[in-house]
Amino acid sequence: MNQKLVVIGNGMAGTGCIEQILKYRRQFDITVFGDETHVNYNRIFLSSVLAGDKSAEDIVLNSLDWYQQNDIRLRLGVRITAIDPGAKTVTGDDGSSTSFDKLIIATGSSALIPPIEGSSKPGVYVFRNLDDTRALLDRARHGARAIVVGGGLLGLEAARGLQVQGCDVTVVHLMDSLMERQLDAIGGAYLKARMECLGVKVLLNRSTTHIIGETRAEGVRLKDGEELPADFVVIAAGIRPNAELARKAGLHVNRAIVVNDFMETSHPDIFAVGECVEHRSVCYGLVAPLFEQGKVLAATLTGNRDQTYEGSTLSAKLKIMGVDVFSAGDFSESAPDSDAVRFEDPALGIYKKLILRNNKLVGLILVGDTADNHRYMHWLESKADLTSKRRSLLFPEPVADAGLDVAELPESKVVCGCHGVTKGSIVQAVRDRGLSTLAQLKQCTRASTGCGSCTELCQHLLKAVAPQFEDERQQVLCKCVPFSEERLREVVRTERLRSVQQVLDIYGNGAGCAVCKPALSYMMDVVWCGSHQEDRSARFVNDRVHANIQKDGTFSVVPRIRGGVTSPEELRRIADVAEKYRVRMVKITGSQRIDLLGVQKSDLPNIWADLGMPSGQAYTKGVRMVKTCVGTDFCRFGVQDSIATGVELERRFENLFTPHKLKMGVVGCPRNCAEATVKDIGLVGQDGSWQVVVGGAADKKVRKADLLITVECSEAALQAAALFFQYYRENANFLERTYDFVERVGIERVRRETIYAPLATQQRLRERLRRSKANSRDAWLEGDQPRHPTQFVQIESLPLPPAGNIQ
Ligand SMILES: Cc1cc2nc3c(=O)[nH]c(=O)nc-3n(C[C@H](O)[C@H](O)[C@H](O)COP(=O)(O)OP(=O)(O)OC[C@H]3O[C@@H](n4cnc5c(N)ncnc54)[C@H](O)[C@@H]3O)c2cc1C
Ligand code: SF4
Repeated sequence: MNQKLVVIGNGMAGTGCIEQILKYRRQFDITVFGDETHVNYNRIFLSSVLAGDKSAEDIVLNSLDWYQQNDIRLRLGVRITAIDPGAKTVTGDDGSSTSFDKLIIATGSSALIPPIEGSSKPGVYVFRNLDDTRALLDRARHGARAIVVGGGLLGLEAARGLQVQGCDVTVVHLMDSLMERQLDAIGGAYLKARMECLGVKVLLNRSTTHIIGETRAEGVRLKDGEELPADFVVIAAGIRPNAELARKAGLHVNRAIVVNDFMETSHPDIFAVGECVEHRSVCYGLVAPLFEQGKVLAATLTGNRDQTYEGSTLSAKLKIMGVDVFSAGDFSESAPDSDAVRFEDPALGIYKKLILRNNKLVGLILVGDTADNHRYMHWLESKADLTSKRRSLLFPEPVADAGLDVAELPESKVVCGCHGVTKGSIVQAVRDRGLSTLAQLKQCTRASTGCGSCTELCQHLLKAVAPQFEDERQQVLCKCVPFSEERLREVVRTERLRSVQQVLDIYGNGAGCAVCKPALSYMMDVVWCGSHQEDRSARFVNDRVHANIQKDGTFSVVPRIRGGVTSPEELRRIADVAEKYRVRMVKITGSQRIDLLGVQKSDLPNIWADLGMPSGQAYTKGVRMVKTCVGTDFCRFGVQDSIATGVELERRFENLFTPHKLKMGVVGCPRNCAEATVKDIGLVGQDGSWQVVVGGAADKKVRKADLLITVECSEAALQAAALFFQYYRENANFLERTYDFVERVGIERVRRETIYAPLATQQRLRERLRRSKANSRDAWLEGDQPRHPTQFVQIESLPLPPAGNIQ
């Protein structure tokens, strides 16, 4: 019969330890008590939830299914109020009594509230769990004044999150330097300057004594008497281990529950793990140590006493995009044999300091450039002798030449401390699944999705192991903004940047060029679903004037003719316009459209007004057209209605921007008269079904499209096409055609992340497409006024599109 194992605390330490126990042969009937009402989630991502970058669902670590599949009894919303070590029972606040053979206490910490009068008033918040985060999100709104008491890691992440939500934020910090536990005074000053540059106000050396306001928080009073008004206050002044339960049960408790190297408490059947423990006089407030502790505890509980916990090297990384801060080990210079090696560049905001003792690295601080943190961590943890490297400690050679061979790291080395991912599991995932990019690695193993400090190491591992490694860092957009498109998309989203200029100001050279500005413009459009501040000057000239500039400086006009189906009335109007404005040539294009060529710039507004037809957008990096065949309406071979389906396809996607031009085709049978199998998206009618194909080309490159899915009806085909369409919009690089994109990503992955993605993911893709469509406009009716005069100013100074013409 299995022993009864009870776990108090459904956080990362308790559940992480259970995950380890499950790796051993089953010996326990497990019951978990958690006083929060949520399943286990990644607490370190609360900052991302507050900044609006992730939802509560995104940060779930173990779903209810996981507990069920592993036969774990989960009691959510039940707080354990007492432990009886003699009777070996725990009592819940629901009146329940549960007996145990072994007990794990994993109660974590609570927010520390310093003695500030009035701190229990409404309008005072802490930042520890999901409910706190939701309450803050409910309170935060544009223009609200927030005061964050505490300038440590949590306080700064809370401040930035609130600021991203539109609040006007002031950080009030007791000490004379920010993050003084991780940074020295110089590092703190660099950090302060960076936070202020982002718009967060910082007050140092100020003690908060009162929360002012009659019935609710209306600000704070400082020790010197100054009062700072605010709409709400967040206290982020540190954490307090939840050890009271253990103390009342008579266990040995100092600052926290005292454990030995096997994670045993003073009672032989009671163990503790995570932030609630004190090991060798140290209490940890980070996830990496608790994963290491969990492994040891799992071994202890399952009778494998070959593992011991000997303490962890402390490291911390600030998770604020654009504020790079990393610190590890002991950075004090007070020990007599300490050598400090420093580098500072105030203009670039870079500060680095290494502390060495006896030629071994014992601590480091990196601000403004944390790229080499993994190398320093390797030196720190391996206690490497650095005598031969002393001349180049702060400017080491590239890793490949420096003798840091990731292949030499042991398989058991934890690469991602936030998720406890070892080198061995990364290597295995790369080999088994053929991963070749960091994005794939993140998705598959969770490595590098936490605080980000292991990103470089993951990159090096990929480089060493993946045969087709794609170094995303090399693919920077351009030298004006030296980041990859993926990273910039992340920055735009998490930092809530709404204009191209903002991105250039904060992450680039402030000016931009004809390469990056249109790409950033597109990025804004797709990230914000068209609700950003459109900067038309950043677009290519064609998009600015809504016509295609020709080699002789004249323009071509292509009205939208959905599915290639027009009417005598439309044809008459086109003919009248062509005569009236002496259009040099009227041409039928290869895409079943009519092209009026040789139009003078000055005639464009009047031509548009006289035509009264929407723009065919035959000039843009966006949806071009849907070519259709005759289909069941008239063709004797037709088995599907290609015309109606094609017209509807065009109607659903028209006026939307895409990374590159996007052409579609719909045919009523496999004879393929409208060449749907060489279009970016093609719908091919079959007897009783539709094939949806993607990534086809008949340009410079000819490529037969890949089959995405076969579905039974036209609506299902349109829905599948929509999923691919939005997925391509969100994930392709700017100016990457679908045929390159599908080849790069692989059709299997495209399928996995679109039509076979979880329903919630599909819904989110659809919802973003719906919002983009709702925000899109027919370019010719811009400003409700077809003769919009601003469409023609300063054409000469605009970025020119790459070569290529309409078809
Ligand atoms: C906003 C934020 C950002 C962070 N960022 C980072 C970071 O970047 N890097 C990093 O390494 N760490 C970070 N941390 C710290 C990290 O999240 C913690 O170290 C980790 O979550 C601790 O896990 P734990 O399981 O020990 O405790 P917790 O996560 O606190 O879990 C304990 C659980 O037990 C429950 N509980 C307590 N008492 C009882 C009881 N009597 N009965 C039932 N249930 C009970 C609690 O409600 C809680 O759900 C961050 C923390 C926060 C809040
Ligand atoms: S593809 Fe088939 S249905 Fe369409 S026109 Fe050609 S033969 Fe007819």
